[in-house]
Amino acid sequence: MLYRSEGIILRTQDFGEADKITTIFTKSKGKISAVANGARRVRNRLLGPTQIFTYARFILLSGKNLDTISQAEIINSNQEMRDDLEKMAYGMYVSELVDVFNEEGVASTEIFYLILDTFALGNRGLFPLATRAFELRLMKFLGYQPRLENCLGCGIIPSERIWFSREGGVLCANCKQQFTPVIELSLGAWELMKRLLTSDFSRLSILRPSQQLLDEIEIAMRAYLDFRMERPLKSLPFLMSLCSPNGLTRRIEVNE
Ligand SMILES: [Zn+2]
Repeated sequence: MLYRSEGIILRTQDFGEADKITTIFTKSKGKISAVANGARRVRNRLLGPTQIFTYARFILLSGKNLDTISQAEIINSNQEMRDDLEKMAYGMYVSELVDVFNEEGVASTEIFYLILDTFALGNRGLFPLATRAFELRLMKFLGYQPRLENCLGCGIIPSERIWFSREGGVLCANCKQQFTPVIELSLGAWELMKRLLTSDFSRLSILRPSQQLLDEIEIAMRAYLDFRMERPLKSLPFLMSLCSPNGLTRRIEVNE
C-alpha cells in the first residue's frame, strides 16, 4: 500500500550494489526503515532526497519488513550539516538519540517537529544550545522528563545549593546522599535547564548562556541519558572529539 509522509533522514546504510537502506523519522508513522533503490547512482532521482539530515516529502510503499521509497521531493536538504564537520557531528548525535529511543511505527509529531527545530537552530550556529534543549524535550516527549522544579527525594524546592541525579531530577542538600553519584549544578544552570525545557523553541535563540552553563547542563544530561540507555552512542566519541575539549568523561568521574 502506498502512503505519503514528510520525513527526516536519520541514517543511511549501503545495501546491495546501488541501493540504500534509510532510517526515516516520518511525521505520520514515526521511525521507519525504507529501501531506496538505486539511490547510490549519480543520476538517480532518490540520490538527493536520501542524504542524511534531509527533510523531504516521501511517497512510500509499505512492505513486510522494509518499506520502499517510491518518490521523494526535498523540502530542506540541510546541506550545511553535511558540509561542516561540527554541525555534522551534532546532527549525527541528535539523529542517533532519536533512533535509539524510538521504536519503529510509533508516531510523534512532537518529536518530528523537535528534530526540525533543533536542526534549524543548529544551522544558525547554535547547536550546543539547541542540542541541550533537544535532549531535555526528547526525554519529555518520551515520558522521561527529568524533575527540575523540586527535589526528587523530598519534594522541597532547593535553595542555595542544588545537585542533579542521573536518575532524573534535582536534589536538595539533605537528599543528595541517597542518590550518588550526583552532579552539582549552579543556580544559573538550573534556571537555564528549566527554560530549555519550557520556553518556546523559537525564543531559545534569544538566550545567550555562557559556555560554563552549557557545560554544566551537558554533563548533567550526559549522565541522565547514559543512565537511560542500554549501550553507548556511536556518534558520541566523534562529537566529543570536536566539541568537548575539556574531557567530559573525566569530569563526570570526578563528580562521582
Ligand atoms: Zn530533598
